[in-house]
Amino acid sequence: MSELQNRAREAFAPLVARRAELFRESLRKELSEPLWEALAAGGFLGAVIPKEHGGTGEGLYALSIALEELAALGLGNMLPILTTMNAIGIARCGTDALKRELLPKIALGAGKFAYAATEEKAGHNVFRIETTAKPAGDHFVLNGQKSYTSGADVADYLLVLARTMSLEELKEKNLPKTFGLSMFIVDARAPGVGRKEVAVRGELGLKVFTTTYEDVKVPASRLLGERDQAMSVLFQTVNPERTLVAAMMVGLSRYCLDVACADARERSVFRGTPTGQYQAIQHPLADVRMRQEAVRLMVHEAARAFDANADIQQTAFYANAAKYLGAELGMKAVDTAIQTLGGRGFDESYGLIPLLEAMRLAKSAPVSSEMILNFVAEHTLGLPRSY
Ligand SMILES: Cc1cc2nc3c(=O)[nH]c(=O)nc-3n(C[C@H](O)[C@H](O)[C@H](O)COP(=O)(O)OP(=O)(O)OC[C@H]3O[C@@H](n4cnc5c(N)ncnc54)[C@H](O)[C@@H]3O)c2cc1C
Repeated sequence: MSELQNRAREAFAPLVARRAELFRESLRKELSEPLWEALAAGGFLGAVIPKEHGGTGEGLYALSIALEELAALGLGNMLPILTTMNAIGIARCGTDALKRELLPKIALGAGKFAYAATEEKAGHNVFRIETTAKPAGDHFVLNGQKSYTSGADVADYLLVLARTMSLEELKEKNLPKTFGLSMFIVDARAPGVGRKEVAVRGELGLKVFTTTYEDVKVPASRLLGERDQAMSVLFQTVNPERTLVAAMMVGLSRYCLDVACADARERSVFRGTPTGQYQAIQHPLADVRMRQEAVRLMVHEAARAFDANADIQQTAFYANAAKYLGAELGMKAVDTAIQTLGGRGFDESYGLIPLLEAMRLAKSAPVSSEMILNFVAEHTLGLPRSY
């Protein structure tokens, strides 16, 4: 076991005895504070934050190891991923003032971030978003609605993607559609910010909201990156997000294998033969174990490439591949575990059915498997864009 794995296991050791209670909490869509505190105390929320701003500077690789270990307890949660991807955005694209103000808070666990990009009419086509941010003196005024914002109730800040130039203006000025979008760090309790819970499944330990923005005043100092150039922030943050979702899938698949193998060793229904002695049960489990290792290696490759500031296309390929294969692994692992346990796979005490929903979500969000295939076809294979 690596030193990092050891450190992560030590940090999460207090959670092990309380695992069942924490899992029940996560099914109630409640963020578990002990989980969050363990991540902060282990230094993992600050892993992607430079030392000069209160982090450990260990990078995405260290964080991916920690999130895998946490998920291996069956405790998946998107908020550490959303918060640290935003920390990366601030560390790589923020002003010195933003870095000084927010990064130490995040490292300490005192700054939680949600991410508000998706809109009803836009979906994967972010260029179609309608939320606007209009300049007014030393601030911007935000108006609009985001359709799924996970953890908007527990977050201290929302990273909001908004239009600072209309599509008509872009056309008039002959500017590319990638221009005219900006990212804002909005106080989650600022006047004019509203939230209404959405009834969706699949998100562990977090509620999901429609968030609304009615004349929300955001200081110009809270613009992240250059005005009209949110794409450069997005490019920095989506690859780490995809890498970390894949790390979480590896961890959750470990939980599924642990549950399945423990059961298959004990359970016998014919002549005292454990079910795990049948090849029909063994082979799918062995298959998952090999896929798991392949995805883990891809996660590590993606994280190392990101930490080394390697070629952006190569980093994006690894991150996308890890996320795509991680989502496939997740589905296979949980389905195999359920099949191994038979009817008991549906027993609430194992939590496999909620994990089935959570792992299925990874095929559709934060980016769908189809959009990843589009990316690889176009950018890695050089094939014509299909859409
Ligand atoms: C539980 C949950 C939590 C979420 N949390 C957040 C959050 O915190 N913040 C946030 O901003 N968003 C969040 N989302 C939104 C999520 O990121 C989007 O649902 C996801 O990006 C997909 O967008 P869409 O649902 O609008 O799908 P659409 O873009 O409408 O796509 C529908 C389907 O068509 C396919 N498709 C679309 N275009 C193409 C194409 N060109 N080629 C091939 N296939 C295509 C897609 O792959 C998909 O399968 C959350 C969603 C859920 C369900």
